Amino acid sequence: MYRSHSCGELRASHITQEVTLAGWVQKSRDKGFMIWVDLRDRYGITQLIFDEERTPKDVFEKAKALGREFVIQVKGSVIEREAKNSKMPTGDIEILVTELTLLNASLLPPFTIEDDTDGGEDIRMKYRYLDIRRNPVKNSLMFRHKVSMEVRKYLSAQDFIEVETPYLIKSTPEGARDFVVPSRMNEGQFYALPQSPQTFKQLLMVGGMDKYFQIVKCFRDEDLRADRQPEFTQIDCEMAFVEQEDILNVFEGLTRHLLSEIKGIELEKFPRMTYDHAMKTYGNDKPDIRFGMEFGELNEVAQHKEFGIFNSAELVVGIAVPGGATYTRKEIDKLVDWVRRPQVGALGMVYVKCNEDGTFKSSVDKFYDQDDLAKWAEVTGAKAGDLICVLSGNTNKVRAQLSALRMEMATRLGLRNPAEFAPLWVIDFPLLELDEETGHYHAMHHPFTSPKPGQLELLDTNPGDVKANAYDLVLNGNEIGGGSIRIHDKEMQATMFKHLGFTEEEAKAQFGFLMDAFQYGAPPHGGLAFGLDRLVAILGGQETIRDFIAFPKNNSGRDVMIDAPATIDEQQLKELSIKLDLH
Ligand code: ASP
Repeated sequence: MYRSHSCGELRASHITQEVTLAGWVQKSRDKGFMIWVDLRDRYGITQLIFDEERTPKDVFEKAKALGREFVIQVKGSVIEREAKNSKMPTGDIEILVTELTLLNASLLPPFTIEDDTDGGEDIRMKYRYLDIRRNPVKNSLMFRHKVSMEVRKYLSAQDFIEVETPYLIKSTPEGARDFVVPSRMNEGQFYALPQSPQTFKQLLMVGGMDKYFQIVKCFRDEDLRADRQPEFTQIDCEMAFVEQEDILNVFEGLTRHLLSEIKGIELEKFPRMTYDHAMKTYGNDKPDIRFGMEFGELNEVAQHKEFGIFNSAELVVGIAVPGGATYTRKEIDKLVDWVRRPQVGALGMVYVKCNEDGTFKSSVDKFYDQDDLAKWAEVTGAKAGDLICVLSGNTNKVRAQLSALRMEMATRLGLRNPAEFAPLWVIDFPLLELDEETGHYHAMHHPFTSPKPGQLELLDTNPGDVKANAYDLVLNGNEIGGGSIRIHDKEMQATMFKHLGFTEEEAKAQFGFLMDAFQYGAPPHGGLAFGLDRLVAILGGQETIRDFIAFPKNNSGRDVMIDAPATIDEQQLKELSIKLDLH
């Protein structure tokens, strides 16, 4: 038996007991005649004491030689501590050690294994196993486990069953590139790693499985954005014989369960908002509704004067920044610089100070009088003391830019309270999205999403206007997940592929298996997937997902600990019939 108790377990009630503990040396203090060692394991820290008088001499000598992160096993008795530490759960006691076994020595760790470590991000990633010993990372992983368990508990109680689907598959388009795996036995052929189990879960519905879920890895070869991982985990779900309403209810229930069990927060029914409304009011399909600053469209009250920039713009739109009227000229100039950064991309910004005395002072006073500006204030909901920030240009672009400014101002003003949870369903997404570069439409969600009933005719005439029973769950401005009601009819699926630019042969080659299955009594079905990494991070009150992943990749998609990706040797390439042509 390596240990009788954990290092987080012993209390005053254990005093006089003989115990065996095992763990890592967090630190030791050597006073010459007395040595204290903090022994750490996953469960906590217990203080060990070795003293010249009471500890056998050889044990005392061995204790002197202990270094940080040495792994040891000790036997001894639980005694009352003279100087109690009320901050530690085990702070009332210490172990008077009688036996010490060195299980393994350790090199000096490259950073301190403390809550506030001296190690930078890179070094901690390289030695992730040491980082995991630290409370913040360890606690995040345990927190993630708790969330996963609650998900399984809730869904199982609702009759969902977890089914594993394969990782070596054929491409499933979810809007990213596939990671591919060469097949040795099938020369020149490749598997794709799933971007999601989408087609398999639909086939499970055809298989009569009715309520499926899976906590599952998905793989997407995307250009790396901050806080994206090439492999990530979804809570993937599908249900048969359901309408959108059923799905929203089940997963609203799941989300409420998680917030209640894990955060102790009881939420009301989640609000719903159409995609169109979200875009118009927040410039974003995942609005953070914990604060206002809603968009006011100003075309009608700003395009009647000689101000060419506004007159030629598709959209003139503004927000009222609370208390912003006191900004100095310099502060406003900085804000203008901020919106002009390439990441935001606005050409400029018009502003109006709403003075406390009811007058207005704007950067366009040459063109607009007080009555005009009063109307702007009305449309944007600006009150005395606010600053109206106005952007103009192409509708989609300007919405994205103003949305970025809205979020930035909310962050600066402390309006994004991490203790507040504001979920929101965004519904009625468009079925298709125009790719401005190629001029082609592609599926906004994925090609298996069905158009809303009665909208099929629009596909030929106004494809961009077709709406889908597709929905996203948004929490505090983050997309937690989304899904849709699917197509379950072969003809309809074929029509869809045609509209997405697949030839009949291409569609058959790639998705023949799905359309074939639809011919054998496919039930109406739909589902969704939540991103587990992000959900856990948000529930844990953080915005970065990396701490909640045991072995994450860095921003260039590398695992710097194992040094992957890596080259493979000639022999392996040959077996895979792969010739490299690197320049
Ligand atoms: N497969 C979709 C996704 O990964 C989710 C769904 O439609 O169920 O986003």
